[in-house]
Amino acid sequence: MTRLFSLSRGGTLRRTWVSLLETGPREARDEQVFVASVTFCKKPPVPLEPIEAVPGCAMSRAAACRVLVIGSRARYTCRVSEQAHDVIVIGGGPGGSCAATVLAKAGRRVLLLEREKFPRFHVGESLLPYNHAIFEELGLLPILEKAGFPAKRGAQFHIADGSKGTAFVFGKGRFTRHPAAFQVERSRFDEILLRHAESCGAEVREEFSVKRTANDADGVEVEGIGRDGSRATFRARFLVDATGRDNLTGNRDGLRDMNPKLRKLAVFAHFSGVRLDPGTAGGDTVIVRLENKWFWVIPVGVDKVSVGVVMERDEFAAAKSTPGEVFERWRDSSVAMKERLADARRLTEYHVTSDWSYRNRSFHGPRLVRVGDAAGFIDPIFSSGVFLAMHSARIAAHAIDDALAGGGDGAAGFVRYERRMRDALGIYSEMVEKFYTTPFMELFLEPRDKWQIAAAINAILAGELEGGWRLRWRMRLFFMLVWLQEKRPFMPRIRFAPVS
Ligand SMILES: Cc1cc2nc3c(=O)[nH]c(=O)nc-3n(C[C@H](O)[C@H](O)[C@H](O)COP(=O)(O)OP(=O)(O)OC[C@H]3O[C@@H](n4cnc5c(N)ncnc54)[C@H](O)[C@@H]3O)c2cc1C
Repeated sequence: MTRLFSLSRGGTLRRTWVSLLETGPREARDEQVFVASVTFCKKPPVPLEPIEAVPGCAMSRAAACRVLVIGSRARYTCRVSEQAHDVIVIGGGPGGSCAATVLAKAGRRVLLLEREKFPRFHVGESLLPYNHAIFEELGLLPILEKAGFPAKRGAQFHIADGSKGTAFVFGKGRFTRHPAAFQVERSRFDEILLRHAESCGAEVREEFSVKRTANDADGVEVEGIGRDGSRATFRARFLVDATGRDNLTGNRDGLRDMNPKLRKLAVFAHFSGVRLDPGTAGGDTVIVRLENKWFWVIPVGVDKVSVGVVMERDEFAAAKSTPGEVFERWRDSSVAMKERLADARRLTEYHVTSDWSYRNRSFHGPRLVRVGDAAGFIDPIFSSGVFLAMHSARIAAHAIDDALAGGGDGAAGFVRYERRMRDALGIYSEMVEKFYTTPFMELFLEPRDKWQIAAAINAILAGELEGGWRLRWRMRLFFMLVWLQEKRPFMPRIRFAPVS
C-alpha cells in the first residue's frame, strides 16, 4: 500500500491510503494511467464527483490525475495531486534539512536536492541556545549531545587593546530559557542534520545542482543537473528555497536588496593552540572589536578553534595583500588577539568569503517559500545565522504542511511566515548595524542591569524572539540610550589606538 495524496479539490483528506494497482506510461509519452484502490481513513468530508465510465484515467504531465477509486463503497472520481512529491527542498544546509525533517515527520513526501556531497566545508560555527528548542522538536538533541560538540555558555565582547570587555552568560539571563548552545564544525553538524532528515523519511539527492524552477497553479517543477551530467526534472506541490547565499530564486527574480552599510568580507581559518579562558568560559564565543572591524574566536573541537576577521570589502581590496597578510596585520594590531593567538598554529588554509548583508524583497512566491540565507543574510557578529535559518525553515514547513492539509496554495500562511521572519531579522539587523558604531560599544561593554536592559540583550543574544513587549521596550530604551550617548555622552568614551 502506498501512502498517497491528499485531495487537491473538493475537500481535505489528510490520510488517504492508495494501492496503485497499475501505473506507468501507457498512451502518449507524457501521460500515465493510474488505477488505484483507495482506503479512506475517514469518510470524504464533501461529496466528490461521481465516477466517470473509465477504468482509470489519464494524468497530464501538468499535475493532476484522476484516480479510479474502487476501495470504498461509493465510487468516486477524485482529483488528486499526482506530484511525485509534496515538497521539494533545494539546499541541504541547516535551513533545508530542518524544513525537510519537519515535513517528513508530518508524513509528507519530501525530496531534498543538494549540490554538494556531504560532509562539505561551511562557515558559521557558533550556534545560539534557542537552537536547542528546534533540535528537540526535530528529535536531534540526543544525537547532537552524543556528537560531543563544545558547549557555548556565553558570548564575550572585548575591545582590541584588551582594556574593556564584557560577557553575557546565558544561564544567568533573567529572560533566557536555554542556558547553552553548541559550537560546531559545520561539515559534521550539517551532515548530521541532513542524515537525520533522511532517516525521518526525506529523499535526499546530493551532487544535484538545481538550475531552473517554475510553477503553475497546481505545483512546481524543478530542473537540474547531477555531477555526472545527467539532467532531471521533478514536480511537487510546494518548493522551499534553502539555497543559502546562492539565493537561487531571489536572485533570479531580482529581489535581493544589499545593505550598503554592511559591505563586509571575512578572512578566517582553524587554529590549534589558541588561548581560551579556563573553565566553562573556554567554550564561549569571543568577539574582539577593532575600530571598524572585528575578530571572532570560536572553539569548535578539541584544540581546534575557528578564528576570523570581518572587515570592509573595499578595504580588503585596497590592501592588495594575501588573505594571510591581511589577517596577520589586523591580529597584530590588537593586543587581545595577539595574546590569544601567541602560540597558535594554523590548521587550515585561509578562507575568504563575502559577508555582505542583504534581504530579499519577498520571502515567498507562488507555491514557494524562501528560508534561511535565501530569505536574508545578516552580518554574523551575533551568531544568529544558523538559528534564523532553522527557525524560518520550521515556520515555513508548518505553513506548507497546513497548506497541504487544507488543499490550498498556502499564500495566506506564507504572508504570516514572512511577517514573523521580517520581525526576527529586524531585531538582529538593528543590533548589527549599531554594533559598528562607537556609542553602541560604549554602552554594550558596560552593561548595567538597570531596568534589566542587559538581561534583555542577553535574551536576544541567546535567540529569544518571542519575548514580547517586556523585551521590546527594553531594547527600544537601549537604542535610545545609544542615541543619547552619541549626542551627549554619559558613559566613558572608547578610543581605538591608531594602527600603523
Ligand atoms: C563569515 C561568516 C561567518 C558566519 N558565522 C556564523 C556563526 O558563527 N553562527 C551562525 O549561526 N551563523 C554564521 N554565519 C551564517 C551562516 O553561515 C548561515 O546563516 C547559515 O549557514 C544559513 O543556513 P542555510 O541553510 O540558509 O544556508 P547554507 O548553510 O548556506 O546551505 C545552503 C545549501 O544549499 C546548497 N545549494 C545552493 N545552491 C544550490 C542549488 N542551485 N542546487 C542545490 N543545492 C544548492 C549549498 O550547497 C548549501 O549546502 C556566518 C556567515 C558568514 C559569511
